[in-house]
Amino acid sequence: MKDSNFLKEHNAKSLWHPMAHPGDSLANPPAIITSAQGVKITDVDGHEVVDAVGGLWNVNLGFSCQPVKDAIAAQLDVLPYYSTFRGTTNDQVIQLAEELRKFFAPDGLTRAFFTSGGSDSVETALRLARQYHKIRGEEGRTKFLSLKKGYHGTHMGGASVNGNANFRTQYEPLLPGCHHIPAPYTYRNPFNESGPERLAQLCLQALEDEIAFQGAGTIAAFIMEPVLGAGGVIPPHKSFMPGVREICSKHGILLIADEVITAFGRTGSWSGSRHWGVQPDMMATAKAITNGYFPFGAVMIADHMTETFEKDTTGKAAIGHGYTYSGHPVGAAAALACLAETQRLNVPENAAARGAQIHRGLLALQEKYELIGDVRGGHGLMCALELVSDRATKAAVDKKTIGKLQKVAYEAGAMVRVSGPNIILSPPLVLSDAEAATILSALDSGFAAVS
Ligand code: PLP
Repeated sequence: MKDSNFLKEHNAKSLWHPMAHPGDSLANPPAIITSAQGVKITDVDGHEVVDAVGGLWNVNLGFSCQPVKDAIAAQLDVLPYYSTFRGTTNDQVIQLAEELRKFFAPDGLTRAFFTSGGSDSVETALRLARQYHKIRGEEGRTKFLSLKKGYHGTHMGGASVNGNANFRTQYEPLLPGCHHIPAPYTYRNPFNESGPERLAQLCLQALEDEIAFQGAGTIAAFIMEPVLGAGGVIPPHKSFMPGVREICSKHGILLIADEVITAFGRTGSWSGSRHWGVQPDMMATAKAITNGYFPFGAVMIADHMTETFEKDTTGKAAIGHGYTYSGHPVGAAAALACLAETQRLNVPENAAARGAQIHRGLLALQEKYELIGDVRGGHGLMCALELVSDRATKAAVDKKTIGKLQKVAYEAGAMVRVSGPNIILSPPLVLSDAEAATILSALDSGFAAVS
């Protein structure tokens, strides 16, 4: 390995980072991670911490998942690549599709379309939604609805349904016909009436109103995360997603669950949709499907849609979409091993227990530190703290304070993620009791340093 100085200098000189200012790498150098074991990462200076980010919401099984590493290595030896475009396929992807069919049967999803990541999965679902309506003769259904504060990746379609200006403004004009409704965000409730349940009702009413305004016959799909992740971990009231399902069904609008983060155990359930008792029409997955060890994703498709596609005789159902790496055999082998490990270890159970532990710890920190305006969590290992400089006005905390807090927490033993005024915690789902305690005590040190 090159030495620390070489890596730091060339990081600033030779590469641009996603979601970062390209001129900022020297003043604010990123942590250079060079190895990892279990749920811990080690940087180029030899400092080891618990990874409370879980890679990027994806390393659910930790960094030492040997069966997945073995599956990847073995598959590289036997068949490192073969395409699934019309005319060929590979054995691994067929086996994976069959395992996913069984895994997602309770969600009513029976076919898989493979991708190389979350943005690809969202793009695929949006395209298939439009095509589905065209096959059925409803050509006018082209628009998409989504939630403000939602995050759906960075392709043009995904960016168009994203509900955060930071990921949109510099890339406009985006796809026409994408409209957003308020998110059920209790802490910064856009309505005058309070309470999570009432807020969910008002957001559902906003959805009904938008559908009436646009015309139901113009809308292809509504896309949402079961628990909003990148927007700051916003769990809706339990009535919200079932309410969305009901409204979509009533108006012939497809419901796409963006489960790039929530599928495979993160919410403490096997999927976010199952967490709320909802069957979506499509589900976008990625991230933990291969535990972050290989770029891979899958869109799962409901039965009624598969019939429309598979029985079509008009010629409109041929899928003019796909990626070179759709169904990559190494990714498929990794995903097969991940699925087996995820089930063997029953990771949602641990995610629920450790999530509750962390949530309790964060509420205790809120009692201690004025800076913590809101604590969000309670649904598996997805938690967030929203920091404010003043609890009464809810004015966001300044960047310097949150940056220092993150730095001190890192020195004290945990890598946490900062997104705007939020500290986001999404550690591996195999986290132990003691490792969860380390995250909390590192945060405590961070807050003590800036309070
Ligand atoms: N959808 C959601 C809900 C996500 O959280 C993300 C990434 O964080 C994406 C889509 C995009 O996934 P990727 O970064 O793999 O393209």
